[in-house]
Amino acid sequence: MNGDIADSKCTNALISELKRLLEASNTSGFSVKPDESCLSDEESEVIRLVQSYIQAIKKSTEKALNRRNNLIIAGNEAAQRFLTNDEGQFESSMLSGMERLGYGVGIDRICIMKNERINGEWHFVFQYEWVKDPNTQEAAANKGQLYPYDLNAEWLGKFRQGEIINGLVQDLLPCLQMFLGRVKRCSVLLIPLFLQDRFWGLATFSDCVHERHFSDDEISILRSGALMMVSAINQHEQAAEICEVQQRTRILLDSMPYACHLWNRDQEMFDCNEENIRLFKVRDKKEFRDNFSSFAPEYQPDGSLTKDVVARVLKTAFTEGHQAFEFMHQASDGTPIPAEITLVRVPYANDYVVAAYARDLREQKRMLEEIEHNKAQIEAASSAKSDFLASMSHEMRTPLNAVIGLSELSLAHGSLDEETYDNLEKIYNAGALILNIVNDILDISKIEAGKLELVPSEYDTPSLINDIVSQNVFRIGEKPIEFILDISADTPATLYGDDLRIKQILNNLLSNAIKYSKQGSVELGLRVERTEDSDTVWVTAWIKDTGIGIRPEDIRKLFSDYSQVDVKANRKVEGTGLGLAITKKLIELMDGTITVESEYGKGSIFTVRFKQKTFTANAIGESVVNNLKSFQYSDRKRKKGSRINYLKMQYAKVLVVDDNMTNLDVAKGLMKPYGMQIDCVSNGAAAIHRIAAEEVHYDAIFMDHMMPEMDGIEATQKIRELGTEYARRIPVIALTANAVVGNEQMFLEKGFQAFLSKPIDIMLLDAVIRQWVRDKDREATQRADNNSSLLDEDMQREGITITIPGIDTETGLDRFGGNVETYISVLQSFVDNTPAILNRMREVTAESLSDYAIDVHGLKSACGSIGAESAMKKAKQQEEWAKTDDLWQVLELNEILLDEVETLLADIVISLTDLENRISKPKLLSPNPILLNRLRQSCIEFEIDGVDQVMDELESADYDQDASLIIWLRKKVDELALLEVAERLAQYDMAS
Ligand code: ADP
Repeated sequence: MNGDIADSKCTNALISELKRLLEASNTSGFSVKPDESCLSDEESEVIRLVQSYIQAIKKSTEKALNRRNNLIIAGNEAAQRFLTNDEGQFESSMLSGMERLGYGVGIDRICIMKNERINGEWHFVFQYEWVKDPNTQEAAANKGQLYPYDLNAEWLGKFRQGEIINGLVQDLLPCLQMFLGRVKRCSVLLIPLFLQDRFWGLATFSDCVHERHFSDDEISILRSGALMMVSAINQHEQAAEICEVQQRTRILLDSMPYACHLWNRDQEMFDCNEENIRLFKVRDKKEFRDNFSSFAPEYQPDGSLTKDVVARVLKTAFTEGHQAFEFMHQASDGTPIPAEITLVRVPYANDYVVAAYARDLREQKRMLEEIEHNKAQIEAASSAKSDFLASMSHEMRTPLNAVIGLSELSLAHGSLDEETYDNLEKIYNAGALILNIVNDILDISKIEAGKLELVPSEYDTPSLINDIVSQNVFRIGEKPIEFILDISADTPATLYGDDLRIKQILNNLLSNAIKYSKQGSVELGLRVERTEDSDTVWVTAWIKDTGIGIRPEDIRKLFSDYSQVDVKANRKVEGTGLGLAITKKLIELMDGTITVESEYGKGSIFTVRFKQKTFTANAIGESVVNNLKSFQYSDRKRKKGSRINYLKMQYAKVLVVDDNMTNLDVAKGLMKPYGMQIDCVSNGAAAIHRIAAEEVHYDAIFMDHMMPEMDGIEATQKIRELGTEYARRIPVIALTANAVVGNEQMFLEKGFQAFLSKPIDIMLLDAVIRQWVRDKDREATQRADNNSSLLDEDMQREGITITIPGIDTETGLDRFGGNVETYISVLQSFVDNTPAILNRMREVTAESLSDYAIDVHGLKSACGSIGAESAMKKAKQQEEWAKTDDLWQVLELNEILLDEVETLLADIVISLTDLENRISKPKLLSPNPILLNRLRQSCIEFEIDGVDQVMDELESADYDQDASLIIWLRKKVDELALLEVAERLAQYDMAS
């Protein structure tokens, strides 16, 4: 065949036939048969080839389309499964979605890993894995297993940039192979996953059988499937987190011990916690919410309508943000529930709500009531105790004063044999000790009852120190203890405060220091510091000892009531454990402090600090300090007044100079027990005259300081100027009512040998007499020719009581050593001599003010001597004003003082007359036997009234014979030893 012609012929026919077939196949498919009649065999062959080629293409396209369809269906179904999130089914939904994907793509293993930072390092955390056949394929890893990054560091950057891995495992880098683990895989697709642009993790899809590259379609479906998984996981995690938070919040709310509810702006309660069910006794929260108004009484305790209160407080809470108040609720059974309500405004759903918290106050109220009740009981008991202690102490003081007073009186009686003296002394000491204890008890009960008040007044600082020292140094007794006084010269001469209480405080501490030291030293120190306020000073006093010390654990118990510490070591030391408790309370009453430092076995130091007022710039000065320091030793053996062992000095003669007659009598009375000759003159000139005349050779002169015309200093100077040996050497002792402040040195410089402050303390007087009047040589001679006791002559009237309004007769009597006779004579002298002074004082004018000062000065000491404290204080005040020329002030108090002293005089007269009647008894030969028999009968019958009556009759007379019987009877009757009395009076039995 000619190729060219044949070709063109063939091509034309072929082309038109192919066109026809294509058109037909478009309408009726490829089943159209070719028209072979117009075609050569070759052309028919071409058409068959073309037809089969088209058929092949069509088939493969259909297959690809099918495959794609399947992938899309698998992706959709997997998505559906991932998003089916039934409660508790999440994991199985995930696996089922993964399975659908796996089958869809024809792979065996899918795994999801999350990117997490753990302990600061990034890790992949294995999440979910699906395997086609769990029976033959092992799991690549367990859930939660970690892959630290550095395993695939190289690829990390690529992952972060979204690069995938697609291909045969054997072609991968060893590190990636290792990362995929030991599970056998042929091909793998590794897709990095991102959530909100954050690198969330990795998904691996593996074909463990075929070597393949994943197609784009597969990649795209698997990528979107993986992203769906990620978002499902994320949603699931968030939901779990929210659920957990809600659960925790509910637990917190329901387990809190407060009933709590939430209110909206319409004042409706829309939620509450479990506590409401328990508190209000309801079935469930709904019951509480629906019936809130029934869980409170209609009215609140203050009378307001509950509904109004609720509306008001909610409204305020919404506006102000917070409300707290007490509210009365009630339980469903009507039990009242007082509650403390707190309302707090909190933001909620674009607005605010109010959270209300109710705290049940029933237990608290019950406890408060109980405490109140107990407190009232304790207070009642404590007040009863204080009252009892106070009245008991008062009741005990009276008989105790008798015990002490009478034993003291008897001790002063020189005629006692040694045994009786010793016994009496023991009685005296025991009585004094009990009195101290009673006083302590009285003090503590007064303090506890808040009845102890401070009584401030101006006082001399040296007198205070002097008193404290002299009241304590004698306690050292025979113990080898050195007493040290550390006081500075710039201490103010006077201070203003309650000196009695300060003495009590320092006495307690000082007596303890001495009591609890066996040897070494005891120091009393005092410093005064000025404060910014010129009227006020800080006083610091310390008492330091080298005694037994106090254990650290005992120190805090030290100041509590009734506690004695270290009882074993102190078993031989008397005490009640009250002293320090009182001391602390007193110092606190003064707004002061007390501290203690102690080393057990070495010693202690107690320091008190308190404020006092001061109105003077005068300091006590060096000389006073020295005097105070030197006194401490000479006075060591001091004992209480009436227990002075009076020296018998009939050989001695003294001259007393005082313008005030009463004061002369006082001095005379005080010195009488010594048996000295006591001459008195009333002015300086007379004294000079006596010494110049040398008619009597006096052993000493007691010279008053303040006298009209010539004062004591001038008189003494003039005596010294007389020039004779006698006049130059005779001891002159200054009597001054101006206490000790600053004057001592002056007196010593002016030719005096010593000074005594008025009212005269018999202890100090005794010391002065021993030092300046006593003459041991003459005493020895006197003893030889006079064995009788002087004091036998003293008229000690036992049992005589003197009561005079305005006069503390006990103190007065004490000044005269309990010698009633002397005291009476001083009182009489006061009555005789005072009116003239009062007359002069009544006429006081500006000109006579200095004389007035002298008169009132004398009156002051006279009043002090007899125990008229109040009058003495007024006189002292008047004297001060008179000395500062303040007539106006003097006049203001003058009448009051004069009236008071006149009343005193009248009362003394009445009392002395009464006393005279009592002590001047008729003198009979012997007690009436009929009375004695009556006494005997009354004693046998124990008829106390009868006994008292007969005793009164018997005692209404003095007897020449059997006087001692009456004294014995009185003693026994007082002891109620009535049978002993009856026995002794047996001889008077009329019947026998
Ligand atoms: P008391 O009357 O027993 O002395 P206090 O209240 O004065 O009572 O003292 C309480 C206790 O403190 C005492 O019993 C004693 O043990 C101890 N004490 C007080 N002062 C001292 C001191 N200076 N040295 C050692 N112990 C002391």
